[in-house]
Amino acid sequence: MSYLLRNATFPNGKTGEIAIQDGLIVAVSSLEPSHKVIDLAGKQVLPGLVDLHTHLREPGFEESETVATGSLSAVRGGFTAISAMANTSPVADTAGVVEQIFRLGQAAGLCDVFPIGAVTQGLNGQTLSEIGAMADSAAQVRVFSDDGKCVFDPLIMRRALEYVKKFDGVIAQHAQEPTLTKDSQMNEGVISAQLGLKGWPAVAEEAIIARDVLLAEHTDSRLHICHLTTAGGVEIIRWAKARGIKVTAEVTPHHLLLTDDYVKNYDPVYKVNPPLRREIDVLALRAGLADGTIDIVATDHAPHSSESKDCEWAEASFGMVGLETALSIVIKTMVQSGAMDYESVADRLSVAPARIGRYENHGQPLEIGKPANITVVDTVAKWIVDRDLMSSRSKNTPFHGFELPGVVTHTFFNGKLVYGE
Ligand SMILES: [Zn+2]
Repeated sequence: MSYLLRNATFPNGKTGEIAIQDGLIVAVSSLEPSHKVIDLAGKQVLPGLVDLHTHLREPGFEESETVATGSLSAVRGGFTAISAMANTSPVADTAGVVEQIFRLGQAAGLCDVFPIGAVTQGLNGQTLSEIGAMADSAAQVRVFSDDGKCVFDPLIMRRALEYVKKFDGVIAQHAQEPTLTKDSQMNEGVISAQLGLKGWPAVAEEAIIARDVLLAEHTDSRLHICHLTTAGGVEIIRWAKARGIKVTAEVTPHHLLLTDDYVKNYDPVYKVNPPLRREIDVLALRAGLADGTIDIVATDHAPHSSESKDCEWAEASFGMVGLETALSIVIKTMVQSGAMDYESVADRLSVAPARIGRYENHGQPLEIGKPANITVVDTVAKWIVDRDLMSSRSKNTPFHGFELPGVVTHTFFNGKLVYGE
């Protein structure tokens, strides 16, 4: 199928047309009769969004999400590439498992699913996994992470950073000092003291970030910090980048909007790892994203069944779904506040994550000859989030009932219209 997208607003604010044929953009200025015409008057086009941090739960936890349902959720949110975190069962720590996930993504056919390989075997934190075999596999893994767990042993972290240098890989660290966060339930501060919940201090995150940027400098390797949540963490990344250290960082949409105030009603939908922090942290994260200290927005989409969320706070699982609300939250927090324009949105949600993950067919400018991975969003329209209407198999969104700006109307993946009509 070929398409002609008319009256599209590009990230740079200009308007024009995009013609799509045989999987590629073949920009034209005049109508071709064989194209299906889609009028995008008033709508914004972006390069297809790329998520560097997605939990798809397959294999092992298919009651919460599968590669197929996660892919559908992704394209509804405007993503044309997602990255499957390794904490499945079995863990994605061998070439066999990452190839299985890669093929499940291809079979679903809605977007690219790039598996992330575990840094250590079974996420045990002690023995390096088959990093080289995963890199050489059909999935060509370039991002490695024990996400959900921190690679705590500094010698293992050093060895992992050294190893991935050989093929231009990157280690994505879940920065959580385990002894300082044992049994922690929420951000450590005034509210945790009021509620009597075990606190999770900012220093537990910042101490690992500080250690690891120094290890990245020492090894001259690429480090990526997952889900930054504290003002102090932003400062450390800023310092590291000024020193020339090869570090990149992400922030989640929920940490750009929500604070630990939401925990006061003990609703476990707000229980997340790392936890919701203070207003001052939210503002520092927004400033860091706007000035590029934080490179990308990543969803940390973490589906959980209702059984593991509809229970007492202490028993509930950590995590929130996020693929279908991410772009809207970024528009609300960053664009409507005037902190970012759509060129920056395209960078933080597509160009930069594709560059970090080495996803060559994504994050490309909307130009002739580029793969037609395109997201169309009505930035003026609003919608009310309804968890029961979402495509994810899990319903644990913290934004149920929120009115949000920005409706994704079309998603094109390799020239195929995978969402919208
Ligand atoms: Zn994590």
